[in-house]
Amino acid sequence: MNFDENKTIVVIGAGPVGISAAAHLISRGLTPIVLEKGISVGAAISQWGHVKLFSPWNYIVDTQVRVLLQKTDWQEPDKKGLPTGQEIVDQYLIPASLTPQLYQAISYEKEVIAVSKQGHAKSSSNGRNGVEYTVHIRSTDGTVEIIKAAAVIDASGTWSNPNPIGLDGLPVSGERENQDAIVYGIPYALGKDKADYAGNRVLVLGGGHSAINVALDLLKLQRSHSDTKVIWGLRTNKLEKLLGGGINDELPARGDLGIAAKKAIDAGLLDVHAPFEVKRITKVTTGLSIEAITDNGQTTFEVDRIIVTTGFRPDLNMLRELRLELDSIVEAPKVLAPLIDPNLHSCGSVPPHGFRELSHPDENFYIVGMKAYGRAPTFLMLTGYEQVRSVAAQLAGDHESANRVELILPKTGVCSTNKSNSGSGCCEIEPEEINSSCCIPKVPMPAALPLVDKAESACCVTKSTPIPSKTSCCG
Ligand SMILES: Cc1cc2nc3c(=O)[nH]c(=O)nc-3n(C[C@H](O)[C@H](O)[C@H](O)COP(=O)(O)OP(=O)(O)OC[C@H]3O[C@@H](n4cnc5c(N)ncnc54)[C@H](O)[C@@H]3O)c2cc1C
Repeated sequence: MNFDENKTIVVIGAGPVGISAAAHLISRGLTPIVLEKGISVGAAISQWGHVKLFSPWNYIVDTQVRVLLQKTDWQEPDKKGLPTGQEIVDQYLIPASLTPQLYQAISYEKEVIAVSKQGHAKSSSNGRNGVEYTVHIRSTDGTVEIIKAAAVIDASGTWSNPNPIGLDGLPVSGERENQDAIVYGIPYALGKDKADYAGNRVLVLGGGHSAINVALDLLKLQRSHSDTKVIWGLRTNKLEKLLGGGINDELPARGDLGIAAKKAIDAGLLDVHAPFEVKRITKVTTGLSIEAITDNGQTTFEVDRIIVTTGFRPDLNMLRELRLELDSIVEAPKVLAPLIDPNLHSCGSVPPHGFRELSHPDENFYIVGMKAYGRAPTFLMLTGYEQVRSVAAQLAGDHESANRVELILPKTGVCSTNKSNSGSGCCEIEPEEINSSCCIPKVPMPAALPLVDKAESACCVTKSTPIPSKTSCCG
């Protein structure tokens, strides 16, 4: 189906990928309606606005959004500079949202609570493909309106759905009851949230770059408030992998994070435990008592606050009446999932992918951006921009452009597949040995990856191999 400008295309979420989707649709003469639950564009990013990104500006500004901005007096930030989250909002997303084309497309304080097919519950097949989507929208006053859409692009991210503490994916005993002392995400320990952490005993849980960010901020706080105590618990024992990218990371700021954390650990400044499994949290008069199994065996200790940075998961409730084809492990579109599943590899990026890999049984519905990666942790904005470029081309009927997916991503410097997973192919090398390599797990490659040689892409390929330098499989 081709779309004309009279057909409504709903974009859910005005984060960087939703804004990019809108710009690409507009560039093709289509008319998006962007529904954002926050009061501004980049509402999710603003919640981690103090965090410095590891991607420089040239990986953050989307090409079609730039086209719109260049028609205004917008000054493009230094392409090599590293913005904070809030700078992305202030210097890129807000100016973009004020361009005439996007200004009229975005509605704020409109939360999408459900998407369905008109007159068709999930189980209803007859005539399903011919009907429009219904998008149920809640305003801040609680009223719900329903609009129809010929296509829906869900770019709502995952920030609102953090993973709980339990290794089984559920809250541990005492987690729900002690929410007043538990924060999910990346609090601003050196700024507005300082009073919560200065001089307190803080348990940081998580094994990604966000956890490093939090732990390093708390160490800085310790310099001015020496009684601040930091315990960092990684739920698995993958510390080396996390810190290992270092100088080989093509995003130097991301590598620097690992290097700084390693220095702090070596200097004995960070009390790190890996693995670390919280079993129970109990409120006591002097704080929170934590029962855990750590590398030292069963332990009980006390903290004042817990910061949980254990990743995010997609909100699939609002999509319950749609026919989606999602992977049962990472909850990403089925074809994409094996390429980003952290159980299979740690490359941090994927071969370029577009509308084909993002398609579902219900046509013209796409999950894009951070949410497209489901529970997988390694999403980069650039990946999302290429996704929506391809999706917009497809909706506009430009199938050649939609199929021609291309993306160059920086490498992490750490890239491995899971040795224990024999099905993952030939990349069975320790991370340190494969700093210059890319690996993609041995999975059937989708037909729509024309730039990837299928024989090579199922195996390890080196930096010198010309195809991966273009398709960039280690982000
Ligand atoms: C701390 C941190 C650092 C990161 N650093 C980098 C980096 O350096 N480089 C990089 O490339 N990527 C980075 N990422 C990953 C990723 O690129 C960002 O998370 C990015 O913001 C994802 O964009 P998005 O548009 O998909 O989702 P989001 O930015 O999360 O935007 C989603 C939008 O949808 C809105 N929304 C949510 N639910 C609804 C609903 N039901 N109805 C209406 N609106 C809704 C939200 O309010 C939000 O505005 C980082 C992520 C985090 C958390």
